[in-house]
Amino acid sequence: MNDLTPTPGGGCRSAPVLKQRGQREVFCGLTGIIWLHRKMQDAFFLVVGSRTCAHLLQSAAGVMIFAEPRFGTAILEEQDLAGMKDAHTELDREVARLLDRRPDIRQLFLVGSCPSEVIKIDLARAAERLTQVHAPHVRVLNYSGSGIETTFTEGEDACLASMVPVLKDTPARELLLVGALPDVVEDQMLSLLGQMGIDNIRLLPARRIDETTAVGANTVFALTQPFLGETHAALMRRGARHIPAPMPFGEEGTTAWLRAVTAEFGVDDATFDAVTAAPRARARKAIAQAAEHLNGKSIFFFPDSQLEIPLARFLTRECGMTAVEVGSPYIHDAIHGPDLDLLPAGPQISEGQDVDLQLDRVRAARPDLTVCGLGLANPLEAEGLTTKWAIELVFTPVHFYEQAGDLASLFSRPIRRKSVLRVEAAE
Ligand code: SF4
Repeated sequence: MNDLTPTPGGGCRSAPVLKQRGQREVFCGLTGIIWLHRKMQDAFFLVVGSRTCAHLLQSAAGVMIFAEPRFGTAILEEQDLAGMKDAHTELDREVARLLDRRPDIRQLFLVGSCPSEVIKIDLARAAERLTQVHAPHVRVLNYSGSGIETTFTEGEDACLASMVPVLKDTPARELLLVGALPDVVEDQMLSLLGQMGIDNIRLLPARRIDETTAVGANTVFALTQPFLGETHAALMRRGARHIPAPMPFGEEGTTAWLRAVTAEFGVDDATFDAVTAAPRARARKAIAQAAEHLNGKSIFFFPDSQLEIPLARFLTRECGMTAVEVGSPYIHDAIHGPDLDLLPAGPQISEGQDVDLQLDRVRAARPDLTVCGLGLANPLEAEGLTTKWAIELVFTPVHFYEQAGDLASLFSRPIRRKSVLRVEAAE
């Protein structure tokens, strides 16, 4: 059985939350396309945006641009922005050309950007119109990935939420697992649940549209990512029931997540222990190695990826760190509550951001490690702070038992590197 030791001094669920609204340092939601297009093998993401959006995608995708990509940008020119051309006609023509050339595309996402939102192109209407033209071979949906009022992980949330209303109805009692995981991690998750007799599982997103995911009043769902608030709400509206659980990070988080899911399906303790004992032991050993460099160190989270609360729980409880501040762009009690329950009392919990005030706090605290976005990392390094880019956490497999050691290593690496640099500088 899972031994979820109560948190000393109670958890952080009812701790006061510092809410500040000011200038924010975030990446835009288009970033999610980089991992979503790898996951959904018959989908294409067409950003309706500017050359800046195209550059962002190409530089984030790095080496992948020489392949036949499953994303692109319909670039809005000055005439579109000035309202001198009918952008809808242009868009219809671009989509027809794309689908004609790429019969492998079964799902097309029209992705809104800052420019398309500023000039108010109605992509929902465009998606409806294009679905009528290209159905049944292609399903066209839309969502916003714009950097106006978003954090970068909201792109995935908006994408998955856009799919929920068109999922088929099912009366079946099924488990729906929600969140785009790397295939290798997803296979491990399905294998663990399968060994415990749970195989009536659907995935959102599925790897292909043909693996139809359905939802109904007898669906229970669990999130594998903590940034899926809109998708959570959309599934509840379809009558599905959420299984609250800590996120599957680290040995403890993975065990607690699996325990919550398997309890729903009546898996007994003996079966649970038999299936999880070996991977749990491997995870504990791997974490212990990486945690040598983390033990006793302090950490400060800027709000960026929305992974901050479960990661703080993992690093404090399993790696011996002390959290000074745990900032998250948004805090949803239904999603983050189980992790907050386990997070030891003490850190300042903050929601939203006024970046100047937060920078004052991190300079005063001078933590051993600061987790933040790319825009803040270099200036803080120049001030002598050791940083970790939050965005790396969504590009690296970090969920479930077999990745638990790698997750701890992602945080220990910058601390080790800094100590090596210090030794070399002293010589
Ligand atoms: S969506 Fe907005 S923030 Fe993102 S790349 Fe395009 S212009 Fe920049």
